[in-house]
Amino acid sequence: MLSATQLLDNLLDRARSVTATETVAVSAALGRVLAAPQISGITVPPLDNSAMDGYAVRLADVAKAGARLPISQRIMAGSVGRPLAAGTAARIFTGAPVPPGADAVLMQEDCTADGDEVHINTLPRPGENIRRAGEDIEAGAEILAAGTRLGAAEMGLAASVGLAELPVLRRLKVACFFTGDELVTPGQPLAPGQIYNSNRYTLTGLVNDLGCELIDLGIVPDTLEATEAALAGAASVADVIVTSGGVSVGEADYVRTAVETLGRVDMWKVAMKPGKPVVYGQIGDADFIGLPGNPVSAFVTFCLFVRPFLLKRMGVADMLYRAFTVQADFAWPKPGARREFLRARLQPNGKLALFANQSSGVLTSCAWADGLVDLDVGHTVQPGDWVRFIPFSELLK
Ligand code: AMP
Ligand code: MG
Repeated sequence: MLSATQLLDNLLDRARSVTATETVAVSAALGRVLAAPQISGITVPPLDNSAMDGYAVRLADVAKAGARLPISQRIMAGSVGRPLAAGTAARIFTGAPVPPGADAVLMQEDCTADGDEVHINTLPRPGENIRRAGEDIEAGAEILAAGTRLGAAEMGLAASVGLAELPVLRRLKVACFFTGDELVTPGQPLAPGQIYNSNRYTLTGLVNDLGCELIDLGIVPDTLEATEAALAGAASVADVIVTSGGVSVGEADYVRTAVETLGRVDMWKVAMKPGKPVVYGQIGDADFIGLPGNPVSAFVTFCLFVRPFLLKRMGVADMLYRAFTVQADFAWPKPGARREFLRARLQPNGKLALFANQSSGVLTSCAWADGLVDLDVGHTVQPGDWVRFIPFSELLK
């Protein structure tokens, strides 16, 4: 039996990044993966500028509080002033370049304007309220590394150095299908023995969130023929195939056999809860990952294993999630025989509560929780103990 860490290593070993690139407008780059490092051609900010609405002064002219200086110029954002004449102040506004000669900006709340003069009520510190040229970005600096996933901040950063377009890797195509004769699509009535296909919504939501191109092949019946046909179709259009159900060793579990017939299979039993065997295989050029059918197992194994695999396959450099140490507000008195990933919620007291029912069929636990407590084999927890916690903010994006 593999550990969860070994399973992740095995999957990441097999993940090859896409290489084809395209150019997109920065405004259309949300969720895309940067194909090449981006270097700034300019200095940001380009000039020393004011952080406040106020008055630019020479420190030598305001050695003691109560100084009065004539106002020699007004400098608005978007214009450039003249060198500051000795013995005068410049009226200046936020973002406006600080005039040569000035070495501090006093905020207007610390001054009293009086006609053409300003009274300095508070002594400034050297450089006060001046944002220095290049304090954000020096010309020639790398602002974004290859393999960065582009979010709102990264798009803004690219725009701040004047980039209009970015080279990105092509989108990864991910096909999904869901095996099970018992599955029914929401909107239709349930016959006795049937259940709704919730994994479709969980897993396609997760795939979409990663910025992959989703190919949703829907429900596939529990027959070898149907499973092979679905796999062959998926392999002809997708880079990666992700399925749920049919990977146990039950009589109606055809997924592994079908992948073996069409390609090759590695199957790993993972020593963790929730979770079962995770199947990895290849059909032609496509990767295949088969997840268990239990809704919580499918969700958790996707987050912990499929997500990093897909990120690496997408070309993302930083595909691993982070865990944090948080105090438990619960007891877990029985040591587990396997590593457990418990659905937990952060409470207003900053400590973690557990969802009462940790069964792998109880999807309510995933919607309720803020993340997973990662509990080692044989560990128990008392209230107040510090535990490893993986927030969903690390797993669901
Ligand atoms: P399996 O892995 O196919 O043996 O399924 C394990 C359990 O998960 C069974 O109780 C199934 O009914 C349930 N299950 C399988 N697929 C889905 C699905 N797409 N949505 C909700 N539950 C499912
Ligand atoms: Mg099944």
